[in-house]
Amino acid sequence: MRDIATVVLATMRKRGISALPRNYELIYESILNSDPTLSLALNGVTDPSDQAALDALCRAHLPHLYQATVSDAALDHLKTEAKTMLAVLDEQQAEISRYSLLLAESNKRILSKSTSSTRILADILGALQASTDDKVEHGRTAIDQAGESSLEMRRIRQELDEYKRIANTDALTRLPNRRAFDEQLAEIYNDARPLAATALIVMDIDHFKRFNDTYGHAVGDQVLGLVAAILKAALRKDAFAARIGGEEFAILVMAAKPQAIQDMADALRLMIARTPLKNPKTGASFGRITVSLGLCMSDQADDPFDFYSKADIALYGAKAGGRNRMVQYRPNLEAEFDANRLLYAG
Ligand code: GH3
Ligand code: MG
Ligand code: MG
Repeated sequence: MRDIATVVLATMRKRGISALPRNYELIYESILNSDPTLSLALNGVTDPSDQAALDALCRAHLPHLYQATVSDAALDHLKTEAKTMLAVLDEQQAEISRYSLLLAESNKRILSKSTSSTRILADILGALQASTDDKVEHGRTAIDQAGESSLEMRRIRQELDEYKRIANTDALTRLPNRRAFDEQLAEIYNDARPLAATALIVMDIDHFKRFNDTYGHAVGDQVLGLVAAILKAALRKDAFAARIGGEEFAILVMAAKPQAIQDMADALRLMIARTPLKNPKTGASFGRITVSLGLCMSDQADDPFDFYSKADIALYGAKAGGRNRMVQYRPNLEAEFDANRLLYAG
């Protein structure tokens, strides 16, 4: 993964492609050659600094990225609105300063007159009145403009939130998806380390290919939905559960005590294993499924990549150990299950 990232960044730098996340994904996909027509089309772009041409490729070849493009446009819009609003407020500030000068000047003129003449006072008050009316009118317009801007900003904000929600949600289970999980994982190592460690559990359904082959992919999809529902119901409310792959889920629990986490993971495993799977219409049984879980604590790892890899190693330890079990990461685990691989294979 890291090697591809280096190649992608070097390619972008060499071709003069600006360092936007969506450009990164474009080059990433073209290097992976997941869509050969994308690689061809990208070679056809004569001016790589032409962002509109790159965005057109995003729309055509990576439709999920189009959402990111739209979000970027909405963000630009939001910035423009904020700028307009600030300009209106600046203008108001300047008006108020001018008005305060006028008041000070009028005050000076009144005080400098030894005999108070009604005519002079009337003149000054008249000028102040006209100026005040003017300010009130200006103020009203500014408030209207600011109100419109803030409405527009709220609307764009909601749109952005909605794009983000769609981009971060798995369509089948409605759980957060891999993208959302990666974001959460990165945050754990972003700032100062929390006092208590975070637990990461990677969970994979056992022999799911066999289940699909026996009952069909559509039933398999329903089972994925059921597993997601069990996750939502069984976990602590502050736990973060995501579907990060076909039949693979991840759970993050902040401020976790290892024993409590092990108990929770085991309770979850049992709950899934004990749930009978039935056709809701006919009542026909689809048997049961089991899951294997790999657990790692954030203080056992150095960065998000290491954290996930170690939880994954623990998961494979659980698979190698016979499935339907939870294994916590420990050093040398890989070597242990490598040695046992032949015994437990299948
Ligand atoms: P293991 O116990 O080693 O995990 O065995 P497995 O069969 O679960 O693992 P394998 O990785 O060989 O297969 C995963 C299967 O999961 C392949 C595919 O049939 C199924 N799968 C992946 N994504 C989906 C999905 O979105 N819907 C359905 N119904 N099945 C899926
Ligand atoms: Mg599996
Ligand atoms: Mg799997």
